[in-house]
Amino acid sequence: VNGDTDDGASLGARRTRLMGPGVPTFHDPPLHLVEGQGVWLRDASGRRYLDCYNNVPHVGHGHPHVVAAIAGQLARLNIHNRYLHEGVLDYIERLTATMGHDLTQALLACTGSEANDVALRMARAVTGHTGLIATDNTYHGNTSATSQLGTRRPPIGGFPDHVRLVPAPESPAPAGTAPKELAEAFGRQVARAIDALEAAGHGFAGMILCPVFANEGVPRVAPGFFAPAQAAIRAAGGLVICDEVQSGFGRCGTMWGHERLGIVPDVVTLGKPMGNGYPVAGVVTRPDVMAAFRGAFGYFNTFGGTPVAAAAGMAVLDVIEREGLVAHAARAGAHARERLAALRSPLIAEHRGAGLMLALVLERNGVPATDIAQRAVEAMRRRGVLIGRIGREMNILKIRPPLPITLAEIDFACDMLQEVLGELGDRGA
Ligand code: PMP
Repeated sequence: VNGDTDDGASLGARRTRLMGPGVPTFHDPPLHLVEGQGVWLRDASGRRYLDCYNNVPHVGHGHPHVVAAIAGQLARLNIHNRYLHEGVLDYIERLTATMGHDLTQALLACTGSEANDVALRMARAVTGHTGLIATDNTYHGNTSATSQLGTRRPPIGGFPDHVRLVPAPESPAPAGTAPKELAEAFGRQVARAIDALEAAGHGFAGMILCPVFANEGVPRVAPGFFAPAQAAIRAAGGLVICDEVQSGFGRCGTMWGHERLGIVPDVVTLGKPMGNGYPVAGVVTRPDVMAAFRGAFGYFNTFGGTPVAAAAGMAVLDVIEREGLVAHAARAGAHARERLAALRSPLIAEHRGAGLMLALVLERNGVPATDIAQRAVEAMRRRGVLIGRIGREMNILKIRPPLPITLAEIDFACDMLQEVLGELGDRGA
């Protein structure tokens, strides 16, 4: 039994009837999950799956400390943030203490999209300009403004003129190119985009990027990669916005993804793992940026920064600290990369990763192996391991488990990957 039951089929039909066509599902047939504990999920038929995909249940599905904190606060008081409450202040104090660069203030929202939307408005407020730069194959959210940034599906009417996209870093780098040259070439692209925005009369407000390029498939980049681009942004008076919705909270083996590339952000946006599934998101910035924003835009978010949201966020930080999850992500990630490097298959073009944000690029004869990647995801699911796909050609396997995954569980996932790639490689495309 693999969960592909009548129950699944009838729920699928009901979903279309009630929610309309084209609502995406992972997996074919879709999975009907009923329980999650730690790194494990269970479907309606009782089948267990090792979760190697989901980054929202960051400290593990159903973590008792987070559940108790949310339930306890919900029973005591939950109210919007126009009343005074120390919970949100204690949380912001603790959160911002984990970041340097004078990033001492924060605004709480409910989704990564909202956080990025606010960050873009901060860049407008500080600079008085509207021009934005993003990388060309990423995702920053579902609001009108964020959906115009480098999505894979161009907005109706095309990209607006005040948004310029620069190519995300390539990996592997073209043969014979030194890291410094790649960094300088990227910096030149950013500088050209700034010039174009200024020439078009938009001026330059800032650049938004995920510091590990998670939605681009975690390409390998050297630590100084962003330095020339950052210098160009600063020289033009724009803001550097790090979208840490995926890369934050220890995922990449450092508390913040921007530490890895040595980026000095003006604004950091947070989401997904922040409340371990309770919707908490945030924008962390310097007091001068926050003051400009508050001066230019009124902002209120009914569900942002409630006592329950703060309790959820605080409990996640407790667990990250108590269970040493940042160091664990680094150690377990290094182990996982060794295992990925040892996989034997002609389909593997490159393995990549930062902490527990891991990826495996599949190609056949130098061509992105999109179909094979899709089949690999389903074959892994049949073996009880959930992974995903990413990349311009959707040929990159994405492995991104909750942080408490053990080395033995990583070994199990890699053993299954070896079996699956062996089968798919033998069978041909
Ligand atoms: N930024 C990044 C890098 C993301 O991956 C996502 C979601 N995939 C978002 C922002 C949007 O977050 P949300 O879905 O919470 O609005």
